[in-house]
Amino acid sequence: MSKTSTKSHILMFPYPAQGHMLPLLDLAHELHVRGVPITILVTPKNLPKLNTLLAKHPSINTLVLPFPNHPLIPAGIENVQDLPPNYFLPMMYTMSELYNPILEWFKRHKCPPTAIVSDFFLGWTQGLAVELGIPRVVFSPSGAMTLSISSTFWRDLPGIGNGDNENAMFEFGNVPNSPSFPWWQLSPIYRNYRQGDKQSEFIREGMLANLVSWGMVFNTFDELEAVYLDHLRKHFGVERVLAIGPLQPVKGDNDAERGGSNSVIASDITAWLDGCPDHSVVYVCFGSQAVLSNKQIEELASGLELSEIQFIWCVKDPTMGLKKSEYGVIPVGFEDRTKGKGLVIRGWAPQVLVLGHRAIGSFLTHCGWNSVLESLIAGVPMLAWPMGADQYVNANLLVDHMGVAARVCEGAGVIPNADELAQELAKSVSEHNIKRRARAVELSKAALASDKEGGNSFKSLDTLIEDLDHELAVKNAVIHDQNNII
Ligand code: UDP
Repeated sequence: MSKTSTKSHILMFPYPAQGHMLPLLDLAHELHVRGVPITILVTPKNLPKLNTLLAKHPSINTLVLPFPNHPLIPAGIENVQDLPPNYFLPMMYTMSELYNPILEWFKRHKCPPTAIVSDFFLGWTQGLAVELGIPRVVFSPSGAMTLSISSTFWRDLPGIGNGDNENAMFEFGNVPNSPSFPWWQLSPIYRNYRQGDKQSEFIREGMLANLVSWGMVFNTFDELEAVYLDHLRKHFGVERVLAIGPLQPVKGDNDAERGGSNSVIASDITAWLDGCPDHSVVYVCFGSQAVLSNKQIEELASGLELSEIQFIWCVKDPTMGLKKSEYGVIPVGFEDRTKGKGLVIRGWAPQVLVLGHRAIGSFLTHCGWNSVLESLIAGVPMLAWPMGADQYVNANLLVDHMGVAARVCEGAGVIPNADELAQELAKSVSEHNIKRRARAVELSKAALASDKEGGNSFKSLDTLIEDLDHELAVKNAVIHDQNNII
């Protein structure tokens, strides 16, 4: 049995982006089933995203605070999923306006939470936790390799002020396997850092504050990233670094509705997949945010057609700030010509459900960390087309170290070559991909074992609760002693 706790009460605070919220809510479920009282902090427009979790666990509390306005964020938008990708920074900044409202809420609350678990983009909550005298646990929705690299650049500021040579290489010699990346592949939040600039310094302070937190939990597992987890412990001296993943959707839930409302009926997709041979279909999806230009879509569509493979392709509509005529348009006639061969899903796809189907043979992905983990859980090898954020690092891990993906394209604006793409797509569902598929299956077994009772991630969650309870017991004993002295 997992250890239960009735002592610690955790305030969980997600950063409002789909890829950040989904795994944090899965973690809330895991903690709650272990008996930990949970309160989740969201702004009003994000409250519906908790529906599935709250339906399952009505005793989870919510703290709903008004969204702090930001001049760049239009009224009514409270999640970066509805904004262009470069809005991550204003969102990070504006969320910190919640510092005082949270502080006030704690003061008013008779039995306030005894710990905070908050996203790594909410580094300022470290100061808040210190002021409240409670531990803060950083939740990383990205992998430990990414954090090893980003912690290095935020600490040492390599390349800042050296001009903008996009192709200058940056080697992270201290990080295991010494990965290196050209400047253009480093996080745009970092590349836009300007020394002395208020927002830039705020971000840096937050990222460095993560490293002095009480602990960090990662949505990853040891077999995938042990060396990087160890690096964070030893090189950065973070006291507790725990792999608690891969977090999985709440069991018994309708996977089809995870994170969004599907534009197609899930049972129609399953029925179509049921008619396809094992490992024969390529699933194409680039996460919750990336939107392809019409030129990219044209080449991808040609690649799919030329490859003659079966496919499911999820196409996103343009988000705010993108010209409707220049993005997300599927070439006329494509769907008719590929009828029977492929399915096009416009909008939100039931990704976990699709990846878990035996007919899926490979996944053309932008390498968002959640997509990566979902693919690994399903034992599906990947075709990597990283486009930004941590995705180049993830592709490096998957292609160069784990042998579970092939790199087919790089860059958000890059237009792939249809012929080359067609070859890679066809290879990915042929016997040429046997090695990568075998590796994916190995990692799937390791991932699932890690989550099971007795597995490393399962035990790490128990350790987290145990340590938080211990911390609380020590604090209560000190308060008790002080009261007795007085
Ligand atoms: N997702 C989905 N349907 C879609 C697009 C995305 O279910 O049509 C889910 C996907 O399963 C994953 C998350 O949204 O859990 C996307 O997170 P990821 O880290 O892969 O990429 P991001 O959206 O953060 O770029």
